[in-house]
Amino acid sequence: MFQKPLGDLGFRTLTVQSLAGAEAPRNGLVGSIHLSTTYTRDEHYAYATDYVYGRSDNLTLRQTEAFLAALENAHAALLYGSGMAAAVAVIAALDPGAHVVASDAMYYGLKHRLAEIGRFGHTVSFVDTTDLYAVETAFAARRPDLVWLETPSNPLWRITDVAAVAARAHAHGAVVCVDSTVATPVFTRPIDLGADIVMHSATKYLNGHSDVGAGLLAAARPSELWNRIGAARAELGAGLGAFDAWLLARGLRTLDLRVRAQAETAAVLARRLSTHPAVARVLYPGLPDHPGHEIAARQMTGGFGGMLSIRLRGGRGAALATAASVSLWRRATSLGGVESLIEHRASMEGAGPLCPDDLLRLSVGIEDVEDLWTDLDHALGAIDLPR
Ligand SMILES: *Cc1c(COP(=O)(O)O)cnc(C)c1O
Repeated sequence: MFQKPLGDLGFRTLTVQSLAGAEAPRNGLVGSIHLSTTYTRDEHYAYATDYVYGRSDNLTLRQTEAFLAALENAHAALLYGSGMAAAVAVIAALDPGAHVVASDAMYYGLKHRLAEIGRFGHTVSFVDTTDLYAVETAFAARRPDLVWLETPSNPLWRITDVAAVAARAHAHGAVVCVDSTVATPVFTRPIDLGADIVMHSATKYLNGHSDVGAGLLAAARPSELWNRIGAARAELGAGLGAFDAWLLARGLRTLDLRVRAQAETAAVLARRLSTHPAVARVLYPGLPDHPGHEIAARQMTGGFGGMLSIRLRGGRGAALATAASVSLWRRATSLGGVESLIEHRASMEGAGPLCPDDLLRLSVGIEDVEDLWTDLDHALGAIDLPR
């Protein structure tokens, strides 16, 4: 706080100094956004707090991180400007020549990044982590340093048994990182299942309002790797900005309400869609015929999430025609916001066995379930069925 009386200073000095050190009322119900990029020393040249410089230290950011660490039952959390930046921060902190084993079914952007890590002297193998035999075979072939899991996985919502894979990975001394973007801490807390680090695209459900891009890492316990990740974040200034951290904390206050409502609606839509004549297959871990249902029922607590995909009997053409004729569902990428989104995923990441051409990905929002159903049913009814 500026100590000297401001009255005998020149106007320009006054304009510069008058707000310096101004504090928000301490009894405000909602925290303020701290924007200071630097922190003052006292006359003994000491810092009154451990805040020194904005590249590494920001109160709003630390408060949001503490909030998120508590939600994930974690020791500590770090926020980045995107989910991708958070994920790559883990890869960048690995020892040279590290071997990574990753789910073959995972977010395509990160899979693309991982496929490039040979340039940094690392190796990666993609395996079907829903198959414990395939996991053991991969671990036996080469000892993993990092095991990267994504469950439910985008866009088939395959379910990996985190506890079973983590136990096997730990037997080889590997670190286990789980991309839990789709499950959210409402339905799964990977650290409780044995994960060492949890990663989120906080852009999605955690923020929930399609207005902040952010990524989260949360660690089960202190470790050398976690220190390296934290030191790099501080030195690079790669932390999330204060405005975005504040907005994210605001979004988080309704996380539980939003995500439970989204999962309830998704479950209703999944059941109805599974008997629709235009739909060949519904992919939703809450349906008993989903290959991961049994594990999901054990691993996910209280719901199966708000994401589902449908495969159209009429193929790619029918998928695109359906996406074209909905009006309430918005045609956009991303997921987890309060507005329902529909996406022909193969147009985004390219078609392949893990992303069929006839697939539409649905991110269920918080609208009235009957409105969402009517819109979808109408669009599906308009397409010509194959005979
Ligand atoms: C969106 C997404 C990411 C990437 O996050 P960004 O915030 O877009 O960088 C990673 N994993 C999953 C599962 C995602 O859905």
